[in-house]
Amino acid sequence: MNNFASRIRTTLSLMIVVFGVVSCTNGGNKKSAASGPSSHIGAVSEVAVAPYTEISMKAQAQRVPILMYHDLVKEDKTVYFDVTRREFADQMQWISDQKITPITLDQLYRHLTTGAAVPEKSIVITFDDNYQGFHDFALPILEAFKFPAAMFVHTKYVGDKSGKHPKMDWPTLKELVKNPLITIGSHTVTHPADITLLSPEDQTKELKDSKEVLEKQLGKPMDYLAYPDGKNDKIVQAKASECGYKMAFTMENTPAEESPSIMAVGRYIQSRLEKAWDDRETSLRGGALAIFRTPIKDAPVVFEEGQFRKTKLALVLGGMPETELSPSREGVLDFIHRTPGTVAGINGGFFAMAAIASTDNQMVGPCKTHDVATFYPDKFPEIWHKLRNRPLVVWGPTEFAIVAFQPETANTDAAFKDFMPDYTDTFLAGVWLIHNGIPQSKEDMDTFGSKDIQDPRRRAFLGIDRDGHIVLGASTESASSQMLAEAAASAGVQEAVLLDSGFSTSLVYGEDVKASGHSTNAIPSRPVPHAIVLRGTLDARTAALGVSTFKPTPDEPEPKSRHRHRKRKEPADESPNEATAAPPDSTSSTTDQPPTIPPTVPTTTPPATTGGDPPVKKKDVSNYLHRMQPALSTGLLGGNLKSISGFISN
Ligand SMILES: [Zn+2]
Repeated sequence: MNNFASRIRTTLSLMIVVFGVVSCTNGGNKKSAASGPSSHIGAVSEVAVAPYTEISMKAQAQRVPILMYHDLVKEDKTVYFDVTRREFADQMQWISDQKITPITLDQLYRHLTTGAAVPEKSIVITFDDNYQGFHDFALPILEAFKFPAAMFVHTKYVGDKSGKHPKMDWPTLKELVKNPLITIGSHTVTHPADITLLSPEDQTKELKDSKEVLEKQLGKPMDYLAYPDGKNDKIVQAKASECGYKMAFTMENTPAEESPSIMAVGRYIQSRLEKAWDDRETSLRGGALAIFRTPIKDAPVVFEEGQFRKTKLALVLGGMPETELSPSREGVLDFIHRTPGTVAGINGGFFAMAAIASTDNQMVGPCKTHDVATFYPDKFPEIWHKLRNRPLVVWGPTEFAIVAFQPETANTDAAFKDFMPDYTDTFLAGVWLIHNGIPQSKEDMDTFGSKDIQDPRRRAFLGIDRDGHIVLGASTESASSQMLAEAAASAGVQEAVLLDSGFSTSLVYGEDVKASGHSTNAIPSRPVPHAIVLRGTLDARTAALGVSTFKPTPDEPEPKSRHRHRKRKEPADESPNEATAAPPDSTSSTTDQPPTIPPTVPTTTPPATTGGDPPVKKKDVSNYLHRMQPALSTGLLGGNLKSISGFISN
């Protein structure tokens, strides 16, 4: 306890030293610090570059399952979690046959906290309880395969040879720790049945004493911990961190990257090896496709309308994107009107209460917008299991990114700054529609999307083309998300995510509503709390003629599914209402129509900055707004979760 207290004191005094540097810088010359903040900023940024120690969004392109073994026995099992030598050899052979690479805990830690890449198909092999059977039966097999593994030791029982499951002694552990394949970690002192139920003093003793004894005996830092029986809570996690552990393991069946904390990394019991691998595949298929990052390139804002494959789309391309959050709800045109320099826009992310009369503007998922510039975390842990792995859209002045969302570890400003230090905008989208220019299959989308994402609706998306130009798009007729994805990919969109769709759908170019959630653009779409607007100038040629240079991808008559072995379903299967309207499916490239420019040139008036009478459409939107109560005074992001339109199945 005294040692622990002194460690805490040392930590505190280090913090005081760090802050002392900052306050000395400021305190030594207060006037200059107040008038010129550069020295202050310099000191703060030195503190801010401390290594990130949580599970990073940078790790979200991969999924690593972790296996947990207990004793290995020659032949006869006495408990269900014993593994025979034969079974273990078979599992290692399976891992080898699948070309899966076991990695070390150090590799895993670097991957999780910095995003350092690990082999595409990686796994981690761990053992609990220091059984002699590990040394006698598992080690020779691991050495034959050259597979690294970790052993978590409960120090009170080191050398205990009583009973049917003898434990390794210190000489054996000292020999093991020299083996480059083996990492030793702590499993507390006495292996309490539930460490969360112990007194704070006893919790500290279990965590600290086992670490110190192992470090003294084995001469190596003990950075990693496995909670006995996986039992832990936030208090024990914090205590483990204070005691100096960098990463700790539970028995929750989840891929490492989807764990709630670096101090609560999930593991699968060994009998679930195939489930562990299935979970990994599911995550990679539906959500963790990649970490997509690209520079944003500005360009004059152009409009395009036409049929791409089976679906009519309205598209706006170019400009610099900004998201905005409204204190009430507004039509997209109103967002544009109140933001000088913006000329086009689309409804944004999903919000919690779809009812038009609702004044609750809580967004689903974390949100930061250009205008509000405050980070709002997601506040609905009860639905986090439905939000996990949805695409988070993140951008800053120069870069645009899409990454799979983890509700527990990607829900702070610090997590986003670690990912993109100068990020200005983020929101959670519905599903990833297009990746690498290839539309996601219905099955891929359904992995995390709700069933109604394939309902026929006017649907909206945010995307980027292969030149780094932002694309705002919407279907001008009802479409499933799969049809939307196929159409947008055919139009040349490289990456795209689904925005709030249905009655919210609203694409605006200049003063014109080019796509609406209603069957006619004359009826304004449902006002929304969140919009994506484009800063820039309308392309002169497009503005004058309603014609653009945006072309369908010429060399891809039939969008390829990422999973060619899967049978592509007819749209009729998923949206009967749409079946009569949709042309029969065909593999012929003749169904891939070039964009149809409407015979009547759309009237495009100059942007709002010129003033003048508001168009009829805007008046209609204002009528909606008139009926709604402003929500800002009662807390912009308060309220209860009632329903989430088009996003979460009931
Ligand atoms: Zn154990």
